[in-house]
Amino acid sequence: MILEDFSEYPEIIIGVSEKPDGNMKLGARESKNNRERFFSNKKIPFTSVVSAGLVHGARVKIVGKKNRGKIVKGTDGLATKDRGTILTVTVADCIPIYFYDQEKQVVAIAHGGWKGILAGIVLNTLTALEDNFKVNPKMLRVLLGPGIQRCHYEIQNNVAEKFKMYPKALFLKEKHYLDLFKVIRLQLVEKGLREENISVSGQCTYEDETRFFSYRRDKPKTVQAMVAFIGFRN
Ligand SMILES: [Zn+2]
Repeated sequence: MILEDFSEYPEIIIGVSEKPDGNMKLGARESKNNRERFFSNKKIPFTSVVSAGLVHGARVKIVGKKNRGKIVKGTDGLATKDRGTILTVTVADCIPIYFYDQEKQVVAIAHGGWKGILAGIVLNTLTALEDNFKVNPKMLRVLLGPGIQRCHYEIQNNVAEKFKMYPKALFLKEKHYLDLFKVIRLQLVEKGLREENISVSGQCTYEDETRFFSYRRDKPKTVQAMVAFIGFRN
């Protein structure tokens, strides 16, 4: 799917695959073929795609030409200024977080699951953009793509406990529910982002069974995931 919220930036190519595009999980037998087909349909050369290895951590890597076509291990965030590099993460309930600074011409993407978000993936992405590219948070645009919304994101007491510093994102109705989108928004605003520069595409991966894989809903033996991407259009 194309994410409409960034349509004001025709220089950027941004989106996320859907379930009918197939499983994009790195390492899955079918994912190489699915990825090649998906990106070639978008006129994105497969050789330009950089994949974050994903460990539900908080490490962010600046990438460029030498990383194209490769997997960057042990990282959940990627950033680049390189116009021939497409950044990707995979998601299946976790939230793809897209960043763009038009002034500095930098893009980034992060994989937002609860562990990584608590560990600081959002904050580390901002710091990486500020330190490496002099990005001003006030100028930064962020888009949160499809993910598990609070309607379906039931969490255990011990996880709720870890998020108690974000009371506005926790809901108790017999069980605890977490609004991870809200947590990300609070973290971004605290670091100087403008509310109006943060968009949310709004789909719930759990709810829309025809369009999205959902780890929570499907409980698959091996993870099936969508691929989220951002880069400069050539
Ligand atoms: Zn839902």
